[in-house]
Amino acid sequence: SQQIATQYIDAVFNNLKKHHSHEPEFLQAVKEIIYSLTPVFAKRPELMDASLLERITEPERVVKFRVSWVDDSGKVQVNRGYRVQYSSAIGPYKGGLRFHPSVNESIIKFLGFEQIFKNSLTGQPIGGAKGGSDFDPKGKSDAEIMRFCQAFMTELHKYIGPDVDVPAGDIGVGAREIGFLFGQYNRIRGAYEAGVITGKMPRFGGSLARKEATGYGTVYFVQEMLKEINATFQDATVVVSGSGNVSVYAIEKAQQLGAKVVACSDSNGYIYDPNGINLDTVKQIKEVEQGRIKEYVDHHPEATFTEGCSGIWTIPCDIALPCATQNEIDEKSAKILVSNGVKAVGEGANMPSTLKAIKVYLENKVLFAPAKAANAGGVAVSALEMAQNSMRIFWTFEEVDEKLHDIMKSIYSNSVDAAKEYGYEGNLLIGANIAGFLKVADAMIAQGVI
Ligand code: GLU
Repeated sequence: SQQIATQYIDAVFNNLKKHHSHEPEFLQAVKEIIYSLTPVFAKRPELMDASLLERITEPERVVKFRVSWVDDSGKVQVNRGYRVQYSSAIGPYKGGLRFHPSVNESIIKFLGFEQIFKNSLTGQPIGGAKGGSDFDPKGKSDAEIMRFCQAFMTELHKYIGPDVDVPAGDIGVGAREIGFLFGQYNRIRGAYEAGVITGKMPRFGGSLARKEATGYGTVYFVQEMLKEINATFQDATVVVSGSGNVSVYAIEKAQQLGAKVVACSDSNGYIYDPNGINLDTVKQIKEVEQGRIKEYVDHHPEATFTEGCSGIWTIPCDIALPCATQNEIDEKSAKILVSNGVKAVGEGANMPSTLKAIKVYLENKVLFAPAKAANAGGVAVSALEMAQNSMRIFWTFEEVDEKLHDIMKSIYSNSVDAAKEYGYEGNLLIGANIAGFLKVADAMIAQGVI
């Protein structure tokens, strides 16, 4: 039965390869997930008869649109907008919007596909989606950002709604952009539909602890995983890539737990501070001044700035938390991490490790927390934001943080249990994929062929 399952998965993947040869990120995400489901198909052949993989790998809907807007000099600019509504089997489509020049259909599809499983793992009733634009927010004025967001929503509003599809932030989309997007949606709809988007500022319907949720959640997850080897964050040396929302709050929580975080980065390069990163300085530069991370060394002369991104993984550490972007750790960087004695890797970003890098971790018994489990805290609190909006109530920071902590613990134990049940004890990647998949697959079967 194992062999039949493998043949089935090979056939599905080869077919996808034929049709999506120009979409490498999408194929990478699909490959990582579907092959790890082999034991599920071996045990439950009826899922093959139902063509579950053929169905789940095909988005329910892909929307592509033109976004025209006027820049400060009066010139009309044109960008591409996307929304991939991947799966609505267990709830309304849910997932962030990414504004970054690298955005294309392959990237949005890989993110949307991952989101199905991640959202399922949270235990919250949310389907999978992703969207964004190749718009580059870097160097744009507030007014330009606003006009772009308004133009983007003028098209997107047709396809979303509190019970239909609920976007949120991702790279390049923070509270400011969410505010502009939300304002335009409400203006067009002529109604105050708070639950249409998450990551709002708390003063108009956002959830407390949403901003912190992804980073905190990643650390909570790794904390559980470290118990396997009787380790904790206390006195551990930690390297965190990125300096956006995920990274900043992963650093904050790791420091609260007694870790020494010695490095973080942005797309220009990384800073290394042997005394431990001063997070107030990072927040001031990135959140208040919207500056670049290299300015950190102006405030802390003992720290160094090095250009380029992959160099950050040559810094010896006990725990590595890649929180920047996809494929930031390749095989070579993974090998360096291992030779420097890394004990655990926790993925705060989406798909930050290449398939070969993951292989290096697993072969060297490095504890590995895969993205769709470890960074699910963000979207989990987004679902809590939707719940608060529906009930018209407002939980305290502590209430939300406690719920987040419980969710991360249960994602961890569900992943551990699924891996064990299907014969891959200790493999969180396989466990998370199986646990996330089964809930969606069973929902699809129960709802008939649609
Ligand atoms: N962009 C985040 C993610 O990758 C959050 C999505 C959301 O809150 O909907 O999961």
